[in-house]
Order: sequence, then C-alpha cells, then structure tokens
Amino acid sequence: MDPRLDVSNAGVIELLAGWFESCGFTVHTELVAAQPRKLNLIATCGTGAGGLVLAGHTDTVPCDASAWLGDPFVLREADGFVHGLGVSDMKNFFPVILEALDGLDLSRGRHGCTVIATCDEECTMNGARHLLARRQCLGRYAMLGEPTGLTPITRHKAVLSLAVGVRGRTGHASDPGLGVNAIDGMFEVLRELRAWRQNIRSGWHDDDFVIPYPTLNFGRIGGGDSTNRICGDCELQLDLRLLPGMDAVAVCEELDRLARRAVLDTGCTAAVWPLSAGTPALAPAGDSELVRFCEHETGRGADSAAFATEAPFLAALGSECVVLGAGDIGQAHQPNERLSLEQAAAMTRIVRHAMERFCLRP
Ligand SMILES: [Zn+2]
Repeated sequence: MDPRLDVSNAGVIELLAGWFESCGFTVHTELVAAQPRKLNLIATCGTGAGGLVLAGHTDTVPCDASAWLGDPFVLREADGFVHGLGVSDMKNFFPVILEALDGLDLSRGRHGCTVIATCDEECTMNGARHLLARRQCLGRYAMLGEPTGLTPITRHKAVLSLAVGVRGRTGHASDPGLGVNAIDGMFEVLRELRAWRQNIRSGWHDDDFVIPYPTLNFGRIGGGDSTNRICGDCELQLDLRLLPGMDAVAVCEELDRLARRAVLDTGCTAAVWPLSAGTPALAPAGDSELVRFCEHETGRGADSAAFATEAPFLAALGSECVVLGAGDIGQAHQPNERLSLEQAAAMTRIVRHAMERFCLRP
C-alpha cells in the first residue's frame, strides 16, 4: 500500500509467460495498472467446457531484509526447506504446476487447463477484480495454491476495512460552549458499535470457523491536535470479518445509520465509509467433485481459513473453488519465510493428478 515500496510485477509475469509458452500453453497478459506496471497472466492449454483453473498471485508483502538470516530475494536451500520471500505465500505454486506438467501428454486434452497469475493480491486484490470485470468463466474448477499446509480450504470470511468519521466544531478548551467535541461524539459511536458487536456475535454463528462469529476490531483512532483546543474531528478505523451469507453492503449501511444516530444529541455529525473495496467471503458451492478430489488426495476434510483469498472472485465467475497449496500461512508475511520441499513434492503430485482427472482423456 506504500507507493515507495510498490513495484511492477512485469518481470515475474514475463518469466512465467516464457515458461508456460515452452510447455505448449497459449499465453496472454492483461494490463491491470500502468504505473507501476501491473499485469495478470492467463495461460491456456486445450479447450472444453469442464476445465481446471490453477490460480495464484505473483506479489508478496514487503520485507525487512535486516530481520532475515540471508538475502530474502535469493532462494536458499537448507535441511529440506527453501527460504526466501514469497516461497510459501505463494510463489511455489507456479514451479509446482510446471513440475506437474512435466511428463503429462497435453495432446490427450479433454478439457482446458488455465493458469492464472495475478497482481496485487496482498494489497487491493485488483488483479482478481480485473478478472471479475472480464465476466468470463475460466473453468468449471479452480484450485488456488495459497499456503494451506495441504489442507483443502473451501470457506473463509469476508474482510472489510471501514472508517467512521465524527465531526464537531473546534474552540478554546476553557469553555465547552465554544465548540462541539468530536471525541465526545466518538465515545457515543463506540458505545453503539460495541453493543452492535455483541448483537451480531449472538445473532450469527458458523461452527465451520475457528472463530465462529463475525468480528469487529477497532484498529486505529485519531483526532484533535492539542489539549487546549476542543477536538473538531475524530476518525476511527475498523476491521470487520463477516461470515458467508452476511450482506456486506447492508452491514455498512447499518453501521452508518448507527453512527449517525449515536451522535444525534451531541451536536456532532457522523458518517461511515469503506477504506478499501473489501474481499467477499468464500463458501463452498454445494457438492463439488473438485472438493471431493482434494479431500481424497490429501486425506483431509475441507476446512475454513482465517485469511482471505482471491477465490471468491473466481467463484463469482462460476468456478467451484478450493484453496490448496504447499507451505504454512504461519510462515507467510514473516522474516525467514520457508517452504518444506516435501510438501512441495506432495503438492506437485496432487496438481498432476488434478490435471489428469479434470483435463485429460483417461
Ligand atoms: Zn497469498
């Protein structure tokens, strides 16, 4: 999100384009943003209505190189692991796919195989939003190779970042009548939001999640500039995690209504607005052959994740989605990120079997 750290992903997209072309894929890239240059890659092999999408993102979070034992940008292998920025989350998926392709006869194609590499998953999900805007289903089944430690994931919560602004009127601190204090107004808003949080916690429940209720976290607050001045403006930033089935737009409208009502007697005004476009929830698409396949291959039942992914965007295009990949989300976004080569090998076998099952003629 910091423009000083934001760089183009064109280099990695060009590398992937060359590799997938040499495997017989037809590659095309789409411009998502011009400055810095952000691209999505869509590589297809074969046609046919069923089809498998293998999707991942090419970006990583920023890193503090001084906290790493080695250079985060140089892959280092030791003790059955590879170390480097993004090895778990989630650059391993592309070499896993390339390795899985090795030895497969793609001329036996029955349904298409599509590889997608997006930009900007870690910040705005603009790559996935760009795919959604094309309104074209890319395949009946989609596997997203995020680091799930080889557990198939079929659900996660929606994530929303909102701001609540309260506006009063500034004045000299010596006389409360000279202004309207926005912090006092925010106090009333917080009281309403805490009561609302309690209500949704008892009103919504889904045992398929480790935290089985929707959450509201107050993440940041700021206002005023001096002790001797009545605070004129106060802003609160919050994070909402909604269960599948909750209507994000309705929730935002309700919070806006609550905030406005809370300050009615204070002389302040209040409003709620989104800080970003948010990520929808992921819920399983009924009985899916891909989910059953992944459960069988991994020996593990489908589970929920505590993190959001690009899967809801592919699901909105009509694909049945599973998030499944090598690597540990606990390792992601950390110094000394690493990936177990044993897991990568296991994932390679799963991807090869998935291509055989969903793309190739028996
Ligand atoms: Zn990721």
